[in-house]
Amino acid sequence: MNESSAVAGPSKSVEETASELQSLLLKETAKTRLRRLATAVPVPFNPVCASTTLTACRAVRQQCTKTHYEPILRPWTDTSLGYCSYLNLCYGEPMFRNNPSLGEGNAPRGSTKECRYMHFQVVPTTAKQTELTPGISHFSTTIRSRLFDGEDGTMSQPGKRVGQWINCDLRRFDYSVLGKFHVIVADPPWDIHMALPYGTMTDDEMRRLPIPALQPDWGILALWVTGRAMELGRELLSLWGYRRVDELVWVKVNQLQRLIRTGRTGHWLNHTCEHLLIAVKLPPSHPRTEDVPWDTDPTLRALRRGIDTDVVVAEVRETSRKPDEVYGIIERLAPQSRRLELFGRKHNIRPGWLTLGNQLGESQVVETDLYDRLTKRYPEQKFKLVG
Ligand code: SAH
Repeated sequence: MNESSAVAGPSKSVEETASELQSLLLKETAKTRLRRLATAVPVPFNPVCASTTLTACRAVRQQCTKTHYEPILRPWTDTSLGYCSYLNLCYGEPMFRNNPSLGEGNAPRGSTKECRYMHFQVVPTTAKQTELTPGISHFSTTIRSRLFDGEDGTMSQPGKRVGQWINCDLRRFDYSVLGKFHVIVADPPWDIHMALPYGTMTDDEMRRLPIPALQPDWGILALWVTGRAMELGRELLSLWGYRRVDELVWVKVNQLQRLIRTGRTGHWLNHTCEHLLIAVKLPPSHPRTEDVPWDTDPTLRALRRGIDTDVVVAEVRETSRKPDEVYGIIERLAPQSRRLELFGRKHNIRPGWLTLGNQLGESQVVETDLYDRLTKRYPEQKFKLVG
């Protein structure tokens, strides 16, 4: 503390100031709370063994509790060719081609010809490891419910712990039925001149999305961008009245937890990461000029709690599917909030969120006011009310 601040509070004695400081220092921050909760239940963490396969590991170690893989040897596998660069995402390996999530609009686009390179599967765990495995799901459920318990639906009726979704064409949807959301995540079908297993939207269709009308005075928008959408996405943010405040990078790893070297995207370089722009809607009173600091507003300043990092390292799954870890990060940015995901698929449905997309099947809602508005606006469509 400097002299001037001591002068600014003349009514406090040195002892009082010291005790106030001490209690402040002892107070739990969001970060320490998270750390405490995260260690409340012991979590087995099994990194992948550096030797990759059990056979290679046994040659150098007597004991190893890490995760191992074994090669899937088909009559057509040629081990001298080495590892397949797509590994468990290869359409030419029957085990992965039959992945049910490839069926719904994610049908293989590349060759499904039998792949002669090597693929792997995880070696079944030992009895001891099997005992530990349920702990993982128990952990995440416990932590999640403790972290987010009772926090949903503060801006409408509680959509507590149940996901809601609406199957619709977002180019034609009447957004006025939805209400407002403090958090929006969008992974748009950008027209990035690439073959994709689903229809894309033109730049103008994207520009017309009424994003600002879906948020109250302030809001967080997380926008996935790739290719030319890295520029277009930024352009749309300013068009919609948002300011980009951060950028999260998802570093893609393969089944063996190594960097993806031959992804299915990228024209100049093979893409090993994806980008999520984090933007805030500036309150109406906030000056729009660039030279005014964006965070003079107390509401926006309160959002900056610095809990998570801006890098997520996670395995690649189906085409375009984003890592689940990102939800936790976004939820921790704005814990007490109603949340919307645009362009979501079935696996994106999540408690406390409303998911919108055109691959979701029969719609389900929990909030009765939302149900009333939907059935009134779209009397010919079926919406299931649950909860
Ligand atoms: N983030 C998602 C992937 C989104 S891919 C994940 O983690 O899996 C983009 C999605 O937008 C696809 O499901 C696609 O079918 C959908 N989509 C494309 N055009 C749309 C439209 N006009 N209205 C609604 N959804 C659309």
